[in-house]
Amino acid sequence: MEAGLEGGCACAAVRYRLAVAPMFVHCCHCRDCQRQTGSAFVINALIETDGIAVLAGAPEPVAVPTDSGLPHRIFRCTTCRTAVWSEYGGRAVLRFVRVGTLDAPDKLAPDVHIYVRSKLPWVRLPEGVPAFAEYYDARELWPAASLERRRAMYGG
Ligand SMILES: [Zn+2]
Ligand SMILES: [Zn+2]
Repeated sequence: MEAGLEGGCACAAVRYRLAVAPMFVHCCHCRDCQRQTGSAFVINALIETDGIAVLAGAPEPVAVPTDSGLPHRIFRCTTCRTAVWSEYGGRAVLRFVRVGTLDAPDKLAPDVHIYVRSKLPWVRLPEGVPAFAEYYDARELWPAASLERRRAMYGG
């Protein structure tokens, strides 16, 4: 994965650059993500919050209900309301950037497919990419360098 990817909202009031490469990329097929996107799945690039340079605008957090009961805030452009990233579980140091808001979303392919128990039946998953009925253990899947960054992000 590469650093320096840029993206933004539909009206361009929000622009951002991923100063570092994401640690890992999720494709989530859960019902929450389907409902919140109005689509079959969401693609999220996991990256340290301080690895995102906000070049323009100030995405506003909106709290949404979750099946788990854990907090989930979706950050949206205050003008066009495009969702650019999420914060899960109140973990302010970590962002889930919506890959579809990148200028070149083809640059980041999913490293894992999760919650495929609710995958829409016509979606076919690629061979060779791990897929899980629910969630997975990052220690078994993430590259060592990403696990190291995760440790650093949580303060060791
Ligand atoms: Zn906008
Ligand atoms: Zn989901």
